[in-house]
Amino acid sequence: MKLGPTTRTPPTPCPQCGAVNDTADGVEHEEAPTPGDISVCMYCAAVTVFTNDLKLRTPTSEEMANIRSDAEIWATIKEAQRAIHAAFSSRRASDQ
Ligand SMILES: [Zn+2]
Repeated sequence: MKLGPTTRTPPTPCPQCGAVNDTADGVEHEEAPTPGDISVCMYCAAVTVFTNDLKLRTPTSEEMANIRSDAEIWATIKEAQRAIHAAFSSRRASDQ
């Protein structure tokens, strides 16, 4: 998985887990996030969408259906989620 540059975004609690996300890394691209872009929470790996002010919201069921129907995008999301889960378990392991 190739990560682009990190962009600072307004600190926003994840709509799923409540952890504050304040940066975004492009995944397989180098662009900064724009409204409507898909994001994945870097703590719980929930799929979220950037609002007009680059905060995060839960995708609508229609958006989620569109996301899942795009095989390439969905594969990239699944890969990001696996990487986040792996990083999270190693963080937890190193805390002990
Ligand atoms: Zn989250």
